[in-house]
Amino acid sequence: MKALFACHALLPDGWHRDVLLEWDADGRFAAVSPDTTAPAGVEQAHYVLPGMVNLHSHSFQRALSGLTEIAGNGPDSFWTWRDLMYRFALHIAPEQMEAIAAQLFVECLRHGYTSICEFHYVHRAPDGALYPDVAETARRVIDGARHAGIGITMLPVLYGYAGFGDAPLRDEQRRFRSGPAEVLAIVEALEPLRGAMVEVGVAPHSLRAASLAQIRELLAALPPDRPVHIHIAEQEAEVRQCVDHTGRRPLRFLYDNLAVDERWCLVHATHVDDGELAALAASGAVAGLCPTTEANLGDGLFPLAPFLERGGRFGIGSDSHVSTSPVEELRWLEYGQRLAGQRRNVAAVRQDERRVGDVLWRAALAGGAQAAGRQVGALAPAHVADLLVLDEAHPNVAAPPELLNGFIFSGNDNLVKDVLAGGQWVVRGREHVAQPAIAARFSQTLADLRELRS
Ligand code: ZN
Repeated sequence: MKALFACHALLPDGWHRDVLLEWDADGRFAAVSPDTTAPAGVEQAHYVLPGMVNLHSHSFQRALSGLTEIAGNGPDSFWTWRDLMYRFALHIAPEQMEAIAAQLFVECLRHGYTSICEFHYVHRAPDGALYPDVAETARRVIDGARHAGIGITMLPVLYGYAGFGDAPLRDEQRRFRSGPAEVLAIVEALEPLRGAMVEVGVAPHSLRAASLAQIRELLAALPPDRPVHIHIAEQEAEVRQCVDHTGRRPLRFLYDNLAVDERWCLVHATHVDDGELAALAASGAVAGLCPTTEANLGDGLFPLAPFLERGGRFGIGSDSHVSTSPVEELRWLEYGQRLAGQRRNVAAVRQDERRVGDVLWRAALAGGAQAAGRQVGALAPAHVADLLVLDEAHPNVAAPPELLNGFIFSGNDNLVKDVLAGGQWVVRGREHVAQPAIAARFSQTLADLRELRS
């Protein structure tokens, strides 16, 4: 049994003093005991909170961050960015995907994410052929997670069409091609890897890239209780196309045709009307919000306050990885709402919790854990032993109850000092334990990819 004694720890019902956290060799909490005394020889920490879940990632896109901020000749948009991303995706070899993923996951851990949901769609070889192992690339991303020590929910993507009306895939989408049978084969191949640190679900890419018939076939054969993620309404253009083809907006079309429940995570539920928002909240599905990517791609703003007023659940993801900090996602989630509505403290819709930082962190933890389909997101027995120790010496780290507001809304220093994931100390004194080797491999991969493209 291993242990940490926390002067202050954020437990499921709020902050507690003098908490002894004990975890077993399987990397799960065995006991969490507040109001106790520190046993001799046990490490002590001042401020401890649960690690955040990153519910939406395309890990290979980490290698693109910073490379697409050059204006083209016409107006740039999500769609012009996507063309660049496709070109990039065509070149990446499986071992390079692993190297990029490991670097990304190190950065995520260092900033406070201890779980990731990988929405994984580069399944095939550059020529469009299946690899001999259908799960080759998914396995590489899971290996990257293992090297970094982050928990992962692998979501192999169903990607059948280039657009509504079963439009055939474009040539540059050939590495993504998958039908229900291929996705289920990947799920089956990954079955032996499932455990405390690995879960496997599925992700129909979107209503434009997967038909209703394909999604139904996939879900009918999927083992019960597995997470199901989908991109739902990221761009107004796709909402218009959906209306043109189905007579309904995307979220409405999804709810009218499928039993959307708590297994589901609707990523980029950006463009939703009041009725759709109410349906999403009532279903218990998680809204997957990616504020820095949605800002970077010019997507739009999710209507957060009316969603929270209806009891809606949300989590955060870093998606294209222009940021790898949960602080930045949550700060921009709130700031976007403030800018749009010209008011402050938007997320604090309930009278029983007025601190915006606490509302955001705790809601994103609960929604993220639900979307991950793993027992994470709480300092509680049987949960995976994930936690963050904040730097008690930093001036922006105040004692609870002010801690989360200071963490999320003060300055730009990384206040995460130590990180435990799955019962292993993976970050110590702000440094990841495998950082030099993983960073060196990532740098070499970037250099190789740039040479290929030039
Ligand atoms: Zn995405």
